[in-house]
Amino acid sequence: MPQFTKKLFTDLAIWMSMLGIIIGICFPPFTVILGFDPELSFSFSFWIICVIAGLLVAGANYMLVNLIIRKPLITISEHMHIVEKEIKSATYTGDWSGCTPEKCNIDIDSDDELGESARTFNDLVSALFRSHEVEKAVSEFSKALSAQLDLDLLSKKALELLLHHTGAVAGLVLTNQSGEQLITANFGLRHPEKIISSIHIHKAMTEKKVISVKLPEDVLVEAVIADFRPKEVTIVPIEFKDEMLGIVVLATASEFNQDALWMIDFFSQGFALSLKNAMIHTQIQQIAALDGLTGIFNRRFGMKRLNEEFSRAKRADSPLTVMMLDLDHFKKINDFYGHLVGDKVIISVVNETKKILRESDIIIRFGGEEFLVVLPGISVENAVITGDRICQKIEDHEIRNKLDIIKMTLSIGISCYPDEHIDSTDRLIQYADNALYFSKDSGRNRSTLYSEQLNIQ
Ligand code: GH3
Ligand code: MG
Ligand code: MG
Repeated sequence: MPQFTKKLFTDLAIWMSMLGIIIGICFPPFTVILGFDPELSFSFSFWIICVIAGLLVAGANYMLVNLIIRKPLITISEHMHIVEKEIKSATYTGDWSGCTPEKCNIDIDSDDELGESARTFNDLVSALFRSHEVEKAVSEFSKALSAQLDLDLLSKKALELLLHHTGAVAGLVLTNQSGEQLITANFGLRHPEKIISSIHIHKAMTEKKVISVKLPEDVLVEAVIADFRPKEVTIVPIEFKDEMLGIVVLATASEFNQDALWMIDFFSQGFALSLKNAMIHTQIQQIAALDGLTGIFNRRFGMKRLNEEFSRAKRADSPLTVMMLDLDHFKKINDFYGHLVGDKVIISVVNETKKILRESDIIIRFGGEEFLVVLPGISVENAVITGDRICQKIEDHEIRNKLDIIKMTLSIGISCYPDEHIDSTDRLIQYADNALYFSKDSGRNRSTLYSEQLNIQ
């Protein structure tokens, strides 16, 4: 079709006018065929009337086209302009509230190409809005997680956001910590251990891929009104540079849709990075706090803990006992068996001592073969009993080195708060040290409770 102008509707008007003129010109001969008077039919005035009538019909047609087709086209174009303006401003302000599908969608009332264009436009607006929602969720997720270095808090936050954005009803996070798998977050699952022991978890970990399975029969989801059994669980391995960091399990009432699966994929990548950060942080903290040989607190960190316990004891007016332990004639072990065996003996003595201590007691490597034990809330009488039990335990213990059996003993000095002369941890340690020297002086392999009399002797 030849084009007269750059405007389709002007072209349409020209085509219709030309058609009106042609029909006007062709009309008079037909009137003759129908029996009209040829003189009247071929008169100039009749030709002019016919051409004008043709042009009027063309004009009416053009108006109808304008009304029926141009109006919806203008609506689509106006909506496109609105969306374009909103996107431009939202890009900089971050406020996408003016571009929601509710605000920008076009009302569709035709089933033809125009209706199809409007429908496609609406789909485009929805896709744009959804993509922005995903981007917002991912950035919210990364922001919330990147600042979190505590493994438990991080797992809980990640699970909370995953549940919120994927529509899952329950889930858990399992993290690999020194070869052990621990549940660091659980929402809604009544029997998480059933899931952990499932072969699917093992499969997801070894094959390093997302697995969706039916839930074990007796796994329930705690709901407000009643417990119910979700249809399916999705197991997502959390991996960072080929290292398996953990697993996220999500349970759904129905199947996840494609959007949720994409979201899970996005989130698991962000979670892996944050999890790795938190794990490195925990390791560094442990390295900074623990003694490399024995795995117990080093002196620097141990002193911090002792100060905390001392402040707490003072505040709560509760007793606090400190014991200074020193291996007897340890130099001989080194000289006779060598340093490596000496190390083995130190580790062994620490492990045996721990067996006597309570969960709340703290053991610190104070020096080479000297240890400080902090026992919060223990009475003087019990402190003396515990000291004697440690001595006995070490005396009874046999350390095997190839064919040899090495026997060890240790000496202990004990000091207890409250005491009228003890107003600091330094004084607590000094008194324990004094008592230790008394134990050494009086024959070793014994524990001594500090008293004023020790200074006199
Ligand atoms: P005493 O009964 O008077 O305490 O005698 P001792 O031999 O235990 O005392 P001394 O302080 O003379 O010797 C302690 C030895 O412990 C000296 C040092 O070489 C050794 N030692 C310190 N740290 C370590 C360690 O980490 N590994 C090993 N194998 N030996 C250590
Ligand atoms: Mg010693
Ligand atoms: Mg010593």
